[in-house]
Amino acid sequence: MLMMRLVVLGSGAAVPSPERNLTSIALRYEGDVFLFDCGEGTQRQMMKYKISYSKVRMILISHLHGDHIFGIPGLLYTLSIEENKRKEPLLIAGPKGTEKRIRELVSKDIPFLKIEEIDEGWNIDLGSAVIYAFRTNHSNNGVSLGYVFEEKETLRFDKEKCEKLGIKGKMFKIIESEGYIKLGKKTVKMEEITYKKKGKKIVITGDTAYSENTIKHASGSDILFHEATFMEDMRDKADEDFHSTVMDAATVANKARVKKLVLYHIGNRYKDDKEIEDEAKKIFENTVVAKDGLEIHL
Ligand SMILES: [Zn+2]
Ligand SMILES: [Zn+2]
Repeated sequence: MLMMRLVVLGSGAAVPSPERNLTSIALRYEGDVFLFDCGEGTQRQMMKYKISYSKVRMILISHLHGDHIFGIPGLLYTLSIEENKRKEPLLIAGPKGTEKRIRELVSKDIPFLKIEEIDEGWNIDLGSAVIYAFRTNHSNNGVSLGYVFEEKETLRFDKEKCEKLGIKGKMFKIIESEGYIKLGKKTVKMEEITYKKKGKKIVITGDTAYSENTIKHASGSDILFHEATFMEDMRDKADEDFHSTVMDAATVANKARVKKLVLYHIGNRYKDDKEIEDEAKKIFENTVVAKDGLEIHL
């Protein structure tokens, strides 16, 4: 189980405001940084909230609206100034159209840049965790994607059982490599003294209207970052623009039985976080409204 550090770099929608930068969420894991969307100003937010831009390994784009990608050219420009130092590839993954859109925006050949167009079913194995994409519902034309970052299950020794049997020190290494250990005449198998521990699961929706597919993929997650561009007073506008209301997000969290809901991509018209939170809590209690700089460790 490795430490995950999640930082909301931008919690706003469409246009930046003094309170909210445009959408981006950073995950720091095993020394790498994964960015989920990269709105204008993300680079500076990284500096402000101490997320190293040189450690960015992947930028996972939910869709190609400007408020989710206009931070990419600036970030890449900075990294390319330090190009000689950077050896590791940087992967930008996003739905169909990403390659053309990003190349247009960047208009510079960057040797370490890799772009991949992906869809639901795509996944990448990081060794101790997997990232995969699922379809959300943000427009009639064009695909939008949400992402799941999930640690793999790990085997843990049952301390009590091990103690009872007198297993200690180097014996653990032997069991790990052989799958069993001999204690006198008795053979103790690995599975008799271990249990499976589920990994942590984080889900990030990007922009989307209410979607059953999100419920399916967010099922049982530790944290669900769900967009909430509008409150219920703007229901018609939310439906028209394929965005969620606070209640939509809370309903998804409730049905998916997540542990915690973080609302982000908050519309500029809403100034009172408490009001937003109260609306959500009618349906899902463990909700917070993201502010820029909100940090979660798990
Ligand atoms: Zn947006
Ligand atoms: Zn959008």
